[in-house]
Amino acid sequence: RAKSQQRAGHFYFSRSMGVEIRERVRMMHALRTGFAKGELFVVYQPQIDLTARRPVGAEALLRWQTADGTYISPDRFIPIAEYSGLIIDIGEWVLRSACHELVRLREAGHRQFTMSINVSQVQFRHPYFLDMLRSALEETGAPPEFVELEITESMAMEEPDLLIKMLAQIKHTGVSIAIDDFGTGFSSLSYLQRLQVDRLKIDRAFVTEITNSARGSSIAEMVIQLGRNLGLSVIAEGVEDERQAEILQSLGCPLAQGFLFARPMATTALYEWLNDEALPGSA
Ligand code: C2E
Ligand code: MG
Ligand code: MG
Ligand code: MG
Repeated sequence: RAKSQQRAGHFYFSRSMGVEIRERVRMMHALRTGFAKGELFVVYQPQIDLTARRPVGAEALLRWQTADGTYISPDRFIPIAEYSGLIIDIGEWVLRSACHELVRLREAGHRQFTMSINVSQVQFRHPYFLDMLRSALEETGAPPEFVELEITESMAMEEPDLLIKMLAQIKHTGVSIAIDDFGTGFSSLSYLQRLQVDRLKIDRAFVTEITNSARGSSIAEMVIQLGRNLGLSVIAEGVEDERQAEILQSLGCPLAQGFLFARPMATTALYEWLNDEALPGSA
């Protein structure tokens, strides 16, 4: 009896695991063929100078729309791309696409525009990452000083020595580095000081908090202060309403990104938006 229960339990366990694995494998195949068929595309969300209320750059964000029209969130398919190794090719393609777009934006007169690109830790650890980065910059003609790579804080936590070395080498290419989702990864302040990064990106959760309670802005305030003390740029992500923008501005946050100003957009929409943007709070 005990034995059959055990077996039954085991069966149940492996069946549910089997479902999960099958689903993951199915999505991995769909992603591989979808990527080959051009179902992936990149959208761009403007980044705003809070004082001037002017766009100064954009973040490239990956999108996947399958043949039947369904959108799959990057939060769902990026982990699968990482797990399967597909992120190496997909990530290179995103980087090249975003660099191309930066060059086109410059040709259209946006000479000071910066381009931020998310980089997965799997890409970052790949032995040819630096070579890939260098040739993408060279072949697209994107000026490195206007390109920024976003790495997450949790990623910054693992293997500190490797990261410190990598960041120094990336610095050599002229590209800058932002720590994404900052405040969620609990990296120590002394460690942060050793990292050659240029910008901290306040996580959306802390931006949302700003208007939620009396002390809701304390973490955002701390990150802004930290950035100032370390000589780093600071950007707030996920700014959805004017009150958040005003408070961030009064705390001395120089940059912001969020639905209040603009959603991530396909390139044609981005150009239209740049031509006739009338940002909330601008003169
Ligand atoms: P992330 O890099 O922190 O990107 C910010 C996310 O917040 C984006 O979600 C963006 O669309 C969303 N967002 C921007 N403003 C607002 C706002 O005002 N309110 C709300 N509620 N959301 C806002 P998205 O595009 O779904 O991307 C999710 C995550 O997927 C990204 O987080 C990033 O970690 C990852 N990701 C996206 N594209 C890439 C990529 O090309 N490569 C890699 N490795 N990861 C990517
Ligand atoms: Mg990001
Ligand atoms: Mg983020
Ligand atoms: Mg995120």
